[in-house]
Amino acid sequence: MAKVVCVLYDDPVSGYPKSYPRDGLPKIEKYPDGQTLPTPEGIDFTPGTLLGSVSGELGLRKYLESHGHQLVVTSSKDGANSVLDKELPDAEVVISQPFWPAYMTAERFAKAKKLKLVITAGIGSDHTDLQAAMDQGVTVAEVTYSNSNSVAEHIVMMILALVRNYIPSYQWVIKGGWNIADCVQRSYDLEGMQVGTVAAGRIGLRALRLLKPFDVKLHYMDRHRLPDAVEKELNLTYHTTLESLTKVCDVVTLNCPLHPETEHMINAKSLKNFKRGAYLINTARGKLCIAEDVAAALESGQLAGYAGDVWFPQPPPKDHPWRTMPHHGMTPHISGTSLSAQARYAAGTREILECYFEKRPIRNEYLIVQGGKLAGAGAHSYSAGDVTKGSEGAAKFKSA
Ligand code: NDP
Repeated sequence: MAKVVCVLYDDPVSGYPKSYPRDGLPKIEKYPDGQTLPTPEGIDFTPGTLLGSVSGELGLRKYLESHGHQLVVTSSKDGANSVLDKELPDAEVVISQPFWPAYMTAERFAKAKKLKLVITAGIGSDHTDLQAAMDQGVTVAEVTYSNSNSVAEHIVMMILALVRNYIPSYQWVIKGGWNIADCVQRSYDLEGMQVGTVAAGRIGLRALRLLKPFDVKLHYMDRHRLPDAVEKELNLTYHTTLESLTKVCDVVTLNCPLHPETEHMINAKSLKNFKRGAYLINTARGKLCIAEDVAAALESGQLAGYAGDVWFPQPPPKDHPWRTMPHHGMTPHISGTSLSAQARYAAGTREILECYFEKRPIRNEYLIVQGGKLAGAGAHSYSAGDVTKGSEGAAKFKSA
């Protein structure tokens, strides 16, 4: 019997939903590159219901308990005496979502002597100290592609919201005003702008494809170059450095994983290389940026706007500068946890658990660390090391 500890975000303050605005979800056959959607032997949830909060339990309880395993579900993950810390010493599997990450630091690995598997229900395993996982022989897996397209949709929404000055205009309506000049003094068309992505992986490439019909000029920077045919199809300009991309782009979107090579890549020095009045969108990870430097660039006008849904730590304290800086369009970390995305990554989590318990190989594309080294998607997109330092700051958050 294994103990599985699953850390999920809290239920809605209004209680776990009894009904939903829509009936069911559209059927998606496969991902754009042909990868199949998760293929568990079964699921015990209704797609389109809230699975990522504590009462939703990622739909795992029936499956795990019917196989004799113990499931502990909690939102208590930070600070002294968290439920996570209490349960760790005999946990074999830890599951959490990047939206409400269980920061698996080296200290926690040291406590978790029986730990064999850490699953990211979603994409982005930077909340786990990958070096500690390698050193301790723990497998790390995530549900690759499960919410990549969800995030790309959020990116397009945020670019348009910033460039067209949507949020302040909406607020004038709520305030009872009709202040057209106040709204449009910062409002532009996206058409004709230079738009670039840092990383053209699953999310970055999808975002480029979605943006193409706006008649913008598209750019990307990545460690590996896209195939010729894709560059031609989208009329892409390739950049080998961040500086070369940011010098020419009006809109920059960050879409690389957080790992030691990318940590704090956006800082006072790199922001100087942006065009004055650029818009920066970050749905990848908060720690790609130095938070105070982004806030200063908005204050000075070097950036015209910043939007995203990723912060560091998560949840961020009440006094995090991104809550109060000017011209921002931040949301809590939600882009990859729409009800549509949850159905896919809950099924993918179930698939990974079935493979683990039945001693079948986990899909290569889901692997980040295995056998003491980076593996699968992790070997392609991450670098070894740890980026969880500072995550203890999440304990400072007190919910509203
Ligand atoms: P992919 O693995 O498909 O793409 C990641 C891309 O980043 C790869 O093309 C990789 O390049 C590139 N990359 C890695 N390091 C660098 C670097 N130093 N410089 C430039 N490019 C680099 O992942 P996804 O597109 O699906 O997801 C990307 C990230 O987005 C996730 O890791 C996660 O952090 C975040 N995310 C956020 C979500 C949210 O809800 N906000 C949900 C899902 C993901 P190459 O492999 O060619 O070396």
